[in-house]
Amino acid sequence: MSSERTPIVSGNWKMNHNHFEAIQCVQKLAYLLQKEDFDAVEVTVHPPFTDLRSMQTLFDADQLRMKLGAQNCHPEEKGAFTGEISPVFLAKLGVQYVIVGHSERRELFGESDEFVARKVAAVQKHGMTPILCVGETLEEREAGTTLDKVKRQIRVALDKRSSDQVKSMVIAYEPIWAIGTGKNATPADAQEVILAIREEVAAVSTRPAAQAVRIQYGGSVKAGTAADFMRQPDIDGLLVGGASLDPTEFARIVQYRRHVV
Ligand code: PEP
Repeated sequence: MSSERTPIVSGNWKMNHNHFEAIQCVQKLAYLLQKEDFDAVEVTVHPPFTDLRSMQTLFDADQLRMKLGAQNCHPEEKGAFTGEISPVFLAKLGVQYVIVGHSERRELFGESDEFVARKVAAVQKHGMTPILCVGETLEEREAGTTLDKVKRQIRVALDKRSSDQVKSMVIAYEPIWAIGTGKNATPADAQEVILAIREEVAAVSTRPAAQAVRIQYGGSVKAGTAADFMRQPDIDGLLVGGASLDPTEFARIVQYRRHVV
Protein backbone atom coordinates (compact mmCIF):
# COMPACT_ATOMS: atom_id res chain seq x y z
CA MET A 1 0.00 0.00 0.00
CA SER A 2 1.39 3.39 -0.96
CA SER A 3 0.44 6.59 0.83
CA GLU A 4 -0.10 8.31 -2.56
CA ARG A 5 -2.90 5.96 -3.61
CA THR A 6 -6.22 5.79 -1.73
CA PRO A 7 -6.92 2.17 -0.73
CA ILE A 8 -10.01 0.61 -2.30
CA VAL A 9 -11.86 -2.42 -0.94
CA SER A 10 -14.61 -3.88 -3.14
CA GLY A 11 -17.24 -6.51 -2.43
CA ASN A 12 -18.25 -8.69 -5.38
CA TRP A 13 -21.48 -10.42 -4.37
CA LYS A 14 -21.64 -12.48 -7.58
CA MET A 15 -25.09 -14.12 -7.97
CA ASN A 16 -26.04 -13.78 -4.30
CA HIS A 17 -28.49 -11.60 -2.29
CA ASN A 18 -31.87 -10.65 -3.78
CA HIS A 19 -32.88 -7.01 -3.41
CA PHE A 20 -34.36 -7.49 0.09
CA GLU A 21 -31.21 -9.25 1.30
CA ALA A 22 -29.08 -6.60 -0.39
CA ILE A 23 -30.81 -3.82 1.56
CA GLN A 24 -30.27 -5.65 4.86
CA CYS A 25 -26.64 -6.33 4.04
CA VAL A 26 -25.82 -2.74 3.12
CA GLN A 27 -27.72 -1.31 6.11
CA LYS A 28 -25.72 -3.51 8.45
CA LEU A 29 -22.47 -2.60 6.71
CA ALA A 30 -23.30 1.11 6.95
CA TYR A 31 -23.94 0.65 10.69
CA LEU A 32 -20.61 -1.15 11.22
CA LEU A 33 -18.40 1.22 9.25
CA GLN A 34 -17.36 4.53 10.80
CA LYS A 35 -16.53 7.90 9.34
CA GLU A 36 -12.79 7.22 9.80
CA ASP A 37 -13.10 4.03 7.76
CA PHE A 38 -14.53 5.94 4.83
CA ASP A 39 -11.96 8.71 5.28
CA ALA A 40 -9.18 6.13 4.91
CA VAL A 41 -10.57 3.57 2.46
CA GLU A 42 -12.83 3.75 -0.57
CA VAL A 43 -15.50 1.04 -0.29
CA THR A 44 -17.47 -0.29 -3.26
CA VAL A 45 -20.21 -2.94 -3.30
CA HIS A 46 -21.19 -4.85 -6.43
CA PRO A 47 -24.64 -6.44 -6.12
CA PRO A 48 -26.48 -8.30 -8.89
CA PHE A 49 -28.14 -6.06 -11.52
CA THR A 50 -31.64 -6.66 -10.13
CA ASP A 51 -30.61 -5.06 -6.80
CA LEU A 52 -29.16 -1.88 -8.24
CA ARG A 53 -32.30 0.27 -8.27
CA SER A 54 -33.06 -0.58 -4.62
CA MET A 55 -29.43 0.13 -3.77
CA GLN A 56 -29.50 3.50 -5.50
CA THR A 57 -32.58 4.50 -3.50
CA LEU A 58 -30.98 3.39 -0.22
CA PHE A 59 -27.62 5.03 -0.97
CA ASP A 60 -29.38 8.32 -1.80
CA ALA A 61 -31.84 8.28 1.10
CA ASP A 62 -29.19 7.45 3.73
CA GLN A 63 -26.40 9.46 2.08
CA LEU A 64 -24.12 6.42 2.26
CA ARG A 65 -20.43 6.89 1.64
CA MET A 66 -20.09 3.47 0.06
CA LYS A 67 -19.94 3.54 -3.72
CA LEU A 68 -22.25 1.52 -5.89
CA GLY A 69 -20.71 -0.95 -8.31
CA ALA A 70 -21.83 -3.44 -10.95
CA GLN A 71 -20.31 -6.83 -11.80
CA ASN A 72 -20.32 -6.56 -15.57
CA CYS A 73 -21.76 -4.66 -18.52
CA HIS A 74 -21.99 -4.93 -22.29
CA PRO A 75 -19.71 -2.70 -24.40
CA GLU A 76 -22.54 -1.42 -26.61
CA GLU A 77 -24.94 1.31 -25.48
CA LYS A 78 -28.11 -0.32 -26.82
CA GLY A 79 -29.39 -2.80 -29.36
CA ALA A 80 -30.18 -6.43 -30.02
CA PHE A 81 -28.17 -8.00 -27.20
CA THR A 82 -30.81 -10.04 -25.36
CA GLY A 83 -30.10 -10.35 -21.67
CA GLU A 84 -27.25 -7.83 -21.62
CA ILE A 85 -26.96 -4.57 -19.66
CA SER A 86 -25.83 -1.26 -21.16
CA PRO A 87 -23.25 0.94 -19.42
CA VAL A 88 -25.67 3.82 -20.02
CA PHE A 89 -28.26 2.13 -17.80
CA LEU A 90 -25.68 1.56 -15.08
CA ALA A 91 -24.53 5.18 -15.08
CA LYS A 92 -28.18 6.27 -14.84
CA LEU A 93 -28.57 4.16 -11.67
CA GLY A 94 -25.68 5.89 -9.94
CA VAL A 95 -23.20 3.07 -10.53
CA GLN A 96 -19.63 4.37 -10.19
CA TYR A 97 -17.52 1.21 -10.55
CA VAL A 98 -17.92 -1.72 -12.94
CA ILE A 99 -15.97 -4.99 -12.66
CA VAL A 100 -14.82 -6.02 -16.14
CA GLY A 101 -13.13 -9.22 -17.22
CA HIS A 102 -13.76 -11.12 -13.99
CA SER A 103 -12.30 -14.61 -14.43
CA GLU A 104 -15.79 -16.12 -14.10
CA ARG A 105 -16.84 -14.04 -17.13
CA ARG A 106 -13.68 -14.96 -19.04
CA GLU A 107 -13.71 -18.66 -18.16
CA LEU A 108 -17.45 -19.49 -17.97
CA PHE A 109 -18.77 -17.07 -20.60
CA GLY A 110 -15.84 -17.02 -23.00
CA GLU A 111 -14.98 -13.32 -22.83
CA SER A 112 -11.81 -12.57 -24.79
CA ASP A 113 -9.16 -9.97 -23.93
CA GLU A 114 -10.42 -7.86 -26.86
CA PHE A 115 -14.04 -7.98 -25.66
CA VAL A 116 -12.92 -6.98 -22.16
CA ALA A 117 -10.96 -4.05 -23.67
CA ARG A 118 -14.17 -2.80 -25.32
CA LYS A 119 -15.92 -2.93 -21.95
CA VAL A 120 -13.14 -0.91 -20.30
CA ALA A 121 -13.61 1.78 -22.96
CA ALA A 122 -17.41 1.74 -22.64
CA VAL A 123 -17.33 2.05 -18.85
CA GLN A 124 -14.95 5.02 -19.03
CA LYS A 125 -16.93 6.65 -21.83
CA HIS A 126 -19.91 6.81 -19.48
CA GLY A 127 -18.00 8.33 -16.58
CA MET A 128 -17.61 5.19 -14.49
CA THR A 129 -14.46 3.43 -13.29
CA PRO A 130 -13.58 -0.04 -14.54
CA ILE A 131 -12.13 -2.60 -12.15
CA LEU A 132 -10.20 -4.66 -14.67
CA CYS A 133 -9.57 -8.23 -13.48
CA VAL A 134 -6.57 -10.25 -14.61
CA GLY A 135 -5.14 -13.52 -13.39
CA GLU A 136 -3.80 -16.95 -14.23
CA THR A 137 -5.16 -20.49 -13.90
CA LEU A 138 -3.43 -23.12 -11.79
CA GLU A 139 -2.07 -24.79 -14.95
CA GLU A 140 -0.59 -21.48 -16.11
CA ARG A 141 0.97 -20.87 -12.71
CA GLU A 142 2.49 -24.35 -12.66
CA ALA A 143 3.76 -23.92 -16.21
CA GLY A 144 5.46 -20.66 -15.17
CA THR A 145 3.41 -18.51 -17.56
CA THR A 146 1.65 -16.31 -14.97
CA LEU A 147 3.41 -13.12 -15.99
CA ASP A 148 2.97 -13.75 -19.74
CA LYS A 149 -0.76 -14.18 -19.19
CA VAL A 150 -1.41 -11.15 -16.99
CA LYS A 151 0.85 -8.88 -19.04
CA ARG A 152 -1.04 -9.80 -22.21
CA GLN A 153 -4.37 -9.14 -20.47
CA ILE A 154 -3.07 -5.74 -19.36
CA ARG A 155 -1.62 -4.85 -22.78
CA VAL A 156 -4.84 -5.59 -24.65
CA ALA A 157 -7.10 -3.85 -22.10
CA LEU A 158 -4.95 -0.70 -21.93
CA ASP A 159 -4.37 -0.37 -25.66
CA LYS A 160 -5.86 2.96 -26.83
CA ARG A 161 -6.38 4.22 -23.24
CA SER A 162 -4.75 7.59 -22.54
CA SER A 163 -2.38 7.99 -19.60
CA ASP A 164 -5.11 9.86 -17.67
CA GLN A 165 -7.62 7.10 -18.38
CA VAL A 166 -5.17 4.49 -17.11
CA LYS A 167 -4.45 6.55 -13.99
CA SER A 168 -8.11 6.63 -13.03
CA MET A 169 -8.86 2.95 -13.47
CA VAL A 170 -8.50 0.10 -10.98
CA ILE A 171 -6.84 -3.23 -11.77
CA ALA A 172 -7.52 -6.40 -9.76
CA TYR A 173 -5.00 -9.22 -9.77
CA GLU A 174 -6.96 -12.38 -9.04
CA PRO A 175 -5.19 -15.73 -9.44
CA ILE A 176 -8.05 -17.94 -10.64
CA TRP A 177 -6.97 -20.87 -8.48
CA ALA A 178 -7.41 -18.68 -5.38
CA ILE A 179 -10.97 -17.52 -6.14
CA GLY A 180 -13.60 -19.12 -3.94
CA THR A 181 -11.25 -21.99 -3.09
CA GLY A 182 -10.03 -20.88 0.32
CA LYS A 183 -6.49 -20.88 -1.13
CA ASN A 184 -4.58 -17.62 -0.98
CA ALA A 185 -1.59 -16.53 -2.94
CA THR A 186 0.95 -15.53 -0.32
CA PRO A 187 1.19 -11.75 0.15
CA ALA A 188 4.75 -11.93 -1.25
CA ASP A 189 3.57 -13.83 -4.38
CA ALA A 190 0.73 -11.35 -4.91
CA GLN A 191 3.14 -8.42 -4.47
CA GLU A 192 5.53 -9.91 -7.04
CA VAL A 193 2.83 -10.27 -9.72
CA ILE A 194 1.29 -6.89 -8.91
CA LEU A 195 4.67 -5.19 -9.21
CA ALA A 196 5.09 -6.86 -12.62
CA ILE A 197 1.63 -5.57 -13.61
CA ARG A 198 2.65 -2.06 -12.56
CA GLU A 199 5.80 -2.33 -14.69
CA GLU A 200 3.71 -3.49 -17.65
CA VAL A 201 1.38 -0.51 -17.18
CA ALA A 202 4.47 1.76 -17.31
CA ALA A 203 5.58 0.04 -20.51
CA VAL A 204 2.25 0.24 -22.35
CA SER A 205 1.15 3.59 -20.90
CA THR A 206 3.33 5.97 -18.88
CA ARG A 207 5.34 5.83 -15.66
CA PRO A 208 3.01 8.39 -13.94
CA ALA A 209 0.02 6.22 -14.92
CA ALA A 210 1.72 3.16 -13.43
CA GLN A 211 2.42 5.06 -10.22
CA ALA A 212 -1.17 6.29 -9.94
CA VAL A 213 -3.19 3.24 -10.98
CA ARG A 214 -4.61 1.33 -8.04
CA ILE A 215 -4.10 -2.43 -8.05
CA GLN A 216 -6.17 -4.74 -5.85
CA TYR A 217 -5.51 -8.33 -4.84
CA GLY A 218 -8.42 -10.78 -4.89
CA GLY A 219 -8.75 -14.45 -4.04
CA SER A 220 -10.28 -15.85 -0.83
CA VAL A 221 -9.43 -12.74 1.22
CA LYS A 222 -10.81 -12.87 4.77
CA ALA A 223 -10.66 -10.48 7.72
CA GLY A 224 -7.73 -12.47 9.10
CA THR A 225 -5.61 -12.11 5.96
CA ALA A 226 -6.55 -8.63 4.68
CA ALA A 227 -3.89 -6.71 6.60
CA ASP A 228 -1.09 -9.01 5.40
CA PHE A 229 -1.94 -8.21 1.78
CA MET A 230 -2.41 -4.50 2.43
CA ARG A 231 1.06 -4.28 4.00
CA GLN A 232 2.63 -4.99 0.59
CA PRO A 233 3.95 -1.84 -1.11
CA ASP A 234 2.15 -2.31 -4.44
CA ILE A 235 -1.18 -3.71 -3.19
CA ASP A 236 -3.66 -0.84 -2.96
CA GLY A 237 -6.84 -2.70 -2.20
CA LEU A 238 -8.79 -5.93 -2.11
CA LEU A 239 -11.48 -7.44 -4.30
CA VAL A 240 -13.50 -9.71 -2.05
CA GLY A 241 -16.04 -12.30 -3.15
CA GLY A 242 -17.44 -14.79 -0.62
CA ALA A 243 -16.39 -12.85 2.48
CA SER A 244 -18.19 -9.71 1.28
CA LEU A 245 -21.60 -11.41 1.65
CA ASP A 246 -21.33 -11.22 5.43
CA PRO A 247 -21.39 -7.55 6.49
CA THR A 248 -19.54 -8.24 9.74
CA GLU A 249 -16.67 -10.00 7.95
CA PHE A 250 -16.57 -7.44 5.15
CA ALA A 251 -16.52 -4.53 7.64
CA ARG A 252 -13.55 -6.15 9.37
CA ILE A 253 -11.78 -6.41 6.00
CA VAL A 254 -12.42 -2.71 5.32
CA GLN A 255 -11.04 -2.05 8.81
CA TYR A 256 -7.81 -3.97 8.10
CA ARG A 257 -5.81 -0.98 9.38
CA ARG A 258 -6.96 -1.77 12.91
CA HIS A 259 -5.28 -5.17 12.60
CA VAL A 260 -1.99 -3.86 11.20
CA VAL A 261 0.54 -4.09 14.04
C1 PEP B 1 -13.95 -12.63 -6.58
O1 PEP B 1 -15.05 -13.05 -6.88
O2 PEP B 1 -13.47 -11.69 -7.21
C2 PEP B 1 -13.23 -13.24 -5.47
C3 PEP B 1 -12.02 -12.85 -5.18
O3 PEP B 1 -13.90 -14.24 -4.77
P1 PEP B 1 -13.43 -14.91 -3.39
O4 PEP B 1 -13.05 -13.81 -2.44
O5 PEP B 1 -14.66 -15.66 -2.91
O6 PEP B 1 -12.29 -15.80 -3.69
